[in-house]
Order: sequence, then C-alpha cells, then structure tokens
Amino acid sequence: AKMEGRGTCRSFEPGMDARLQERRLLEAELALAVAQDQFVLHYQPLHDAKTSKLTGFEALVRWNHPRLGLLPPGEFIQLAEETGVIEGLGEWIMRQACADAASWPQPVKIAVNLSPAQFKQQGLPLQVASALATSNLLPSRLELEITESVLLAHNEHTIQTLHGLRDLGVSIAMDDFGTGYSSLSYLRSFPFDRIKIDRSFVSLMCESSESRAIVKAVAELGSTLGMTTTAEGVETQDQYLLVRENGCTDVQGWLFGRPMPASQLHVLFEQHAAL
Ligand code: C2E
Ligand code: CA
Ligand code: CA
Ligand code: CA
Repeated sequence: AKMEGRGTCRSFEPGMDARLQERRLLEAELALAVAQDQFVLHYQPLHDAKTSKLTGFEALVRWNHPRLGLLPPGEFIQLAEETGVIEGLGEWIMRQACADAASWPQPVKIAVNLSPAQFKQQGLPLQVASALATSNLLPSRLELEITESVLLAHNEHTIQTLHGLRDLGVSIAMDDFGTGYSSLSYLRSFPFDRIKIDRSFVSLMCESSESRAIVKAVAELGSTLGMTTTAEGVETQDQYLLVRENGCTDVQGWLFGRPMPASQLHVLFEQHAAL
C-alpha cells in the first residue's frame, strides 16, 4: 500500500479525521457531563469467601451518554484522566458512592476506585473527609482501591496522601494485583489493608496449575502481611471453590452478581436480611 504513494495516504485522511473529530466531540461532551448529571454508579457485590455472605459493593462508574447510550469506564476514564475531567468526576463519584452507602445496612461496605490523576490533586484526603462528613458515612465502611500505576511515580507526595487517607479511618486496597511490573515492591511502599488479585489469574485457575500456585502464594503473602485478599472475576462455582481452597478471604465476580444500579440493591439486602 505504501508504494501507491500519496493517493493512498490521502484516502486514509477522511477516516483519521472522523476518528479525531469523534474524539474531540467526546472530549467536549465529557467536559460538560458532570454538570449535566450524566454519570451513574453501578454496584457490584463483594462476598466473604468462607461464608459467602454479602460484605459490600464496589462502585463502578458508567456514562449515560445522550447519543451513545450507557458507556463502560473503559470508553471514557482514560480520556477523563488526560483532560483533567477526572478531578470533578472523581469527586462526584466519591460523594455519590458515600451518599448511597450511607443508606445501606450498617455492616455493608463500599469500595471506590481512585485514579492516578486524583493523586496529583493536593486536597484528596480533605475531599474524602468532606464526602464522609456530608453523607454521615462511618470511615470504616469506606475502602479506596488504587492500582499499581498510582505508585509508579512512587514519590513522597503519593505515599503521604495514602497515609493521609488512611488516617481518616478508611481502608486501602491494592487493585488488579499482579498485572504491573513490580507488584511486590509496591507492597513494601505502603501497608495496604487488602490485595485484589486480578481476574487474569482467577480465570485461568481451573486449567493452569501455575495460576493456582500464584493465587495461593499471593493469598499466603497477604495473610502473612496482615492483608485480606479478594479474588476478582469469579465466574464459576469451580473457580469459587479453588480460590477459597487456596486462601482468598473474599470473592467478587459474576457468579455472585454483576454491577447493578443502586435502585436494585434492596433485593440483595432482603436476601441477606440475616446481616
Ligand atoms: P476494576 O476496578 O478492576 O473493576 C472490575 C471490573 O471487572 C469491572 O469492569 C467489572 O464489571 C468487571 N468484572 C467484575 N466481575 C467480573 C467477572 O466475573 N467477569 C468479567 N469478565 N468481568 C468482571 P468495569 O465496570 O467495566 O470497569 C473497568 C475498570 O474501569 C475498573 O476495573 C476500574 O479500573 C475502572 N473504573 C470503574 N469505575 C471507576 C471509577 O469510579 N473510578 C475510576 N477511577 N476508575 C473506575
Ligand atoms: Ca477496582
Ligand atoms: Ca480490579
Ligand atoms: Ca481490572
């Protein structure tokens, strides 16, 4: 195709333009979407591995886009980070999640994802403190999930911010564990409360003895370091039995429930009325 020269090049331009235009349009729409109240939080149940009891929910954001319908975070979170929209969006997510969780039965906890870009803000602990105070949610009911990429820069400010957050009485989880380049060294940089073992390990457990060995080793490591371990992406009964057998303390995945709107959670609370 290269040898056809400029003509070929030109024929690609409309496509490129269209993609660029679509991105610019999405960017412009994203900048207004918080103010226009277009985001919604869905909640995915978290369960105790041993008893299989409901222990909490993870908040997962969706964009109710006027043209494109309900968009998953994979389609806009990165753009929100690149454009700075994540600051306002992250604050909205924190306030909404705390407000929703405050109406749930007492022991049910809420987990909220923090993006690396939110750690560049100066007042993150203050923002979380304010969301807790406004919603009247006990700090012990809030867990913040961060990925290894937050610690990539690994500077003093990040670690200080993590301590500032933990001083509020919230817990901190290391998300997607095992997918980065130096997962183990990150465990040394901050005393996390929880390790969430990435779905990629869990989904291979039935057929791969290596994956089983890794999950077992991470669960043991967590236990030694005083951290709980959540197996992510548990889709089948076999996977559930395996992660439990190999020492994971908590489970999350389609087997237990998909992310759902806040209005549907009361059904689960009734099922777990014994709480
Ligand atoms: P994550 O934090 O690892 O969240 C778990 C993702 O796995 C969710 O995708 C969830 O729907 C999906 N999942 C859960 N159980 C299963 C399962 O059994 N099988 C399969 N195949 N998938 C499962 P989702 O909602 O599309 O979110 C994707 C990512 O977007 C999240 O990954 C997180 O990194 C980011 N994200 C979501 N919500 C937020 C948010 O409020 N703030 C920030 N900063 N990031 C968010
Ligand atoms: Ca997460
Ligand atoms: Ca995860
Ligand atoms: Ca993930």
